[in-house]
Amino acid sequence: MSKFQNVVEALQQGTAPQSTSEVQVYEASFEQKDGTNIVMVKEGTVKYLVAAGNGALLGALQGEQNGEAKVCPLTHENRLVLNEYFDYTAPKAFGTEITTMGLGDRLGVASPGHIETVKKHRVKPILAQQSIRELTLLNRTMKDILDAAAFAVFQEGYKDGYGADADHIKLEEDIAHALKLGFSFLTLDCSEQIRNDVEGMDDDQRQKEYADFPVDQKEHYNQHYLNKTFDVNGIEVGYDDASLAKNVLVYGEAIDFMEHVFKTYIETSDKAIDFEISIDETETITKPEEHFFVAEELRRRGVTVQSLAPRFCGEFQKGIDYIGDINQFEKELKEHAEIAKYFSYKLSIHSGSDKFSVFPIIGKYTDGLLHIKTAGTNWLEAVRVIAQVNPELYRRMHVYAEDHFEETLKYYHVTPDLDSVAKLEDTSDADLPKYMDHDASRQLFHVTYGILLTAKDEAGADLFRNEFFETLLTNEDAYRQSLVKHIGRHLELLGL
Ligand SMILES: [Zn+2]
Repeated sequence: MSKFQNVVEALQQGTAPQSTSEVQVYEASFEQKDGTNIVMVKEGTVKYLVAAGNGALLGALQGEQNGEAKVCPLTHENRLVLNEYFDYTAPKAFGTEITTMGLGDRLGVASPGHIETVKKHRVKPILAQQSIRELTLLNRTMKDILDAAAFAVFQEGYKDGYGADADHIKLEEDIAHALKLGFSFLTLDCSEQIRNDVEGMDDDQRQKEYADFPVDQKEHYNQHYLNKTFDVNGIEVGYDDASLAKNVLVYGEAIDFMEHVFKTYIETSDKAIDFEISIDETETITKPEEHFFVAEELRRRGVTVQSLAPRFCGEFQKGIDYIGDINQFEKELKEHAEIAKYFSYKLSIHSGSDKFSVFPIIGKYTDGLLHIKTAGTNWLEAVRVIAQVNPELYRRMHVYAEDHFEETLKYYHVTPDLDSVAKLEDTSDADLPKYMDHDASRQLFHVTYGILLTAKDEAGADLFRNEFFETLLTNEDAYRQSLVKHIGRHLELLGL
């Protein structure tokens, strides 16, 4: 008799199946649709959809026939079927009405915990969110992350809506691809168009270069900004010859690109897209008058954005708290938040994981007009679970991460003091999870995820990957609880 027999029988009777010793049923996923009854289950560490009855949904799913039922793997094709029959499993845009939180899931297994977390807060989850850099480092595709998010939503029976962010996209071909796949959120990374060399020039050089611009372009900028001041909800922003020339040189080409992308891809899309502009990955901190300049130009050109990410003062390093002058941050954040409110879009905070000391400030001034992105922190929580339940695996990963840390510095800016990490041989198994409470070891793991999860032995077999996922999927509840606690702490301090 098939392991799924109990599940199939219950489905045929139109009742929610119960877990058995062999098969775990995700009861919240149980659905009845036009004659087909369907539920998500897990056997060992592999998840399936089991469907029974009759009707179009059963016919559309691909899977192994099991009497009158089907046992269906979690493939891309079956995800598309779920999207077609259950609206809530497809990503959607949220506009600016409600706070959103980016919850990038590097592993494809964190979303159930994220969903459980946001249910208790005034925030909508952007469950799929991965930059091309992260995808490349993990050998994943945009399709994979969307599939994982949609299946998690179905598993949890979460019907309140979620988004999917094609994060830090620079190339038009990637934009087109993401939108075709169904992403509902696009973060346009303009760092290739933002000129980093202008900061090092002197005023004369800048004004000379600006003087060489075509007359109509100079007219466009001079008439509107030169020697003018703007009152932005009580904050005065003004431009003279020097500052206008500098803004045009630094951001002009980037703004042209934003306008082009908006008019080519966003405005013409047949469904709503949350469009975010990121000017954060540049070498210079975004001053309020620079933020205003970019936003005002977008407004003048008819470009609507739902969020914009400036680069803030101080450092937003991965996986640890804010580094910098908190008073200065508060002053500048307030100004950026006022500018965002003035233009009715959300202020977007990138690398927002673990910035506990500034969350209350961010919550206070943004009044909910906020998008905050987190990513690798859920991977660190996964590592914490590994340290708790599989110390032997944790130890091997720790050694490997230390040996390969240097290789990650070409992708990530982090400055951990690795000498401060307690020696592995002096640490008892019970104390291993404490590594995830220590800044330097957090960063050590934060940036080595790609190296760890793709590491091979001499025969070409995965060194950690399979055991890592097996361990995590066998301990799903522990992982869920640890995310609820950790991400929940973010939301509480943000006042959401
Ligand atoms: Zn960013």
